[in-house]
Amino acid sequence: YVLVIEGLAKLCVPDPNKYKRIDNIYEPSWAPVFYNPLMVENRDIAVLTVRAMNSIVSKNRIVVLDPLAATGVRGIRIALEARNSKDIEVFMGDISKEAIDLMKFNAKLNNLSDNVHVYWMDANEYMHWMVRNGYSLDYIDIDPYGSPIDFISSALLTISKGGIIAITSTDLAVLEGKYREKLYRRYDVIGKRINISKDVAIRALLYYIARTASRFDRYVEPILAYVYRHYARVYVRVYKGASKAMQMLNECIGTIFYCERCGYSELNRDIHESKTISCPICGNQLTEVKPLWICSLGNKDFLDRLSEELIKMPWIQHTTESLIKYFAMVSDINVITIRLVDIARFLHKEIPQRDKLIKCLSEKGFKSVKSIYYSDGILTNANILEVIDCFNSI
Ligand code: SAM
Repeated sequence: YVLVIEGLAKLCVPDPNKYKRIDNIYEPSWAPVFYNPLMVENRDIAVLTVRAMNSIVSKNRIVVLDPLAATGVRGIRIALEARNSKDIEVFMGDISKEAIDLMKFNAKLNNLSDNVHVYWMDANEYMHWMVRNGYSLDYIDIDPYGSPIDFISSALLTISKGGIIAITSTDLAVLEGKYREKLYRRYDVIGKRINISKDVAIRALLYYIARTASRFDRYVEPILAYVYRHYARVYVRVYKGASKAMQMLNECIGTIFYCERCGYSELNRDIHESKTISCPICGNQLTEVKPLWICSLGNKDFLDRLSEELIKMPWIQHTTESLIKYFAMVSDINVITIRLVDIARFLHKEIPQRDKLIKCLSEKGFKSVKSIYYSDGILTNANILEVIDCFNSI
């Protein structure tokens, strides 16, 4: 084991030099207790979210559950860094006894033995046990290996009204459509891998969460959803109500239509009719991926709160800061990425510099932002004809 610092926490973690693959890269899942330093931005944003909850939750105490806690880094950081105007009570757990021993040690190392509660329990059992024991759970963080689907129903059933569940999914290849049968079996989604598969991945995961919520007469509001490095991460607020759940399904579940010839795409509410639809730009048959979440991926007010909290936390990574700025910029454009490589191939032209294209679009009065998912991707409220026009004029 070695000592590391992350955020304001001191942590004892497995020595990364001991668990390296043949290509000399650290493989955290080989270590006796999981700790991945590359997930720091994921945890930074979790801490910021609980801090931002201080101004959302009306109770005086926020109850946080980190039921797949491994070294305890996430829960410990929340206990140390998220306290603002309210008390924060943190519960952590894991199925592995070795993890439990290490997280207790780490809690002690940070003088938190009396402030965080550690239980050796299965995550699903833990969530229901908390409710059975009278706790109202305000924030649940689901951060498993691979797919989170095993834990989503319990999280939706046990979170308090208006509470937040944060979910990480590292089975990005499945969500992106690389394994079509698995995408269907696991997430109900039919389709294949397309050039904007990261957009699909977030919306497939949100579809699954929303559809599961609706089965329990609950509905969700995504406040932040993104793909970064090897994972998708979503934050949703959860509410109760059968008619609102139905409204959510009617308004927010639909299809991505995408043209593999010219890059045209659209988000559409139509999921039921399977008809052949031609691309309005080039006439090619459109590829469909469905059902997907087609409503907004973020809540502007919430993202503004994250930015306000960020200023008070100078220890947060610069990479996290850039992510938050990016989320705030794209939060009011609910569109799918346009890949310049698609349009360039269609027009038989070189791919222009994104800056030049964005300047051209902004001169026409459109808002455009460089995608962080694709080096040739842009998000814009302009339609593809305007983008093609700029392509031809620069
Ligand atoms: N959240 C941690 C962090 O930020 O560093 C990493 C968690 S790691 C990816 C997943 C953890 O979930 C492992 O420690 C594993 O032992 C634990 N786990 C797997 N299945 C579980 C279950 N059913 N209940 C509770 N913990 C489980």
